[in-house]
Amino acid sequence: MAVLKIRTNPDPVLRRKARKIAAIDDSIRKLIDDMVETMQESYGVGLAANQVGVPLRVVVIQVPEQELLVLINPVIVETKGERMVIEGCLSVPGYQAEVPRAESVRVQARDRNGKIFRKRGTELLAQALQHEIDHLNGMLYIDYLKDKSQLRKTDSFKE
Ligand SMILES: [Zn+2]
Repeated sequence: MAVLKIRTNPDPVLRRKARKIAAIDDSIRKLIDDMVETMQESYGVGLAANQVGVPLRVVVIQVPEQELLVLINPVIVETKGERMVIEGCLSVPGYQAEVPRAESVRVQARDRNGKIFRKRGTELLAQALQHEIDHLNGMLYIDYLKDKSQLRKTDSFKE
């Protein structure tokens, strides 16, 4: 496994719509392992493949006290409610801001063996699922801000 370099805004790879994965082979499984290691090394809650320069639809999420999630070709199939949450991003280091997110989401994806599964997320998991799937669509949380003055500087940040 290897720790990968995290791309930061305004790297253009963060703005590319990531491609769907047709076949989950060893190169994809290696990418997943490297992404997990990179996320853990960075104390992130989640990481999308384009954040490490690979424009493919892969996300890893590790919410504290919960199982590690690997999502290939994830799609949000249901959202409920809305709330404002404080958010940061490994690709926008040193800042955070309040953005609107659904309270709960249901996502469908494939796991590392290609098996389709569904996962419902609330609280931080719901937020992470929305944040990471936005990445795959070339979006950053700062896109929700009407005004960049809403960004606050921070010493510590989370994905
Ligand atoms: Zn992010």
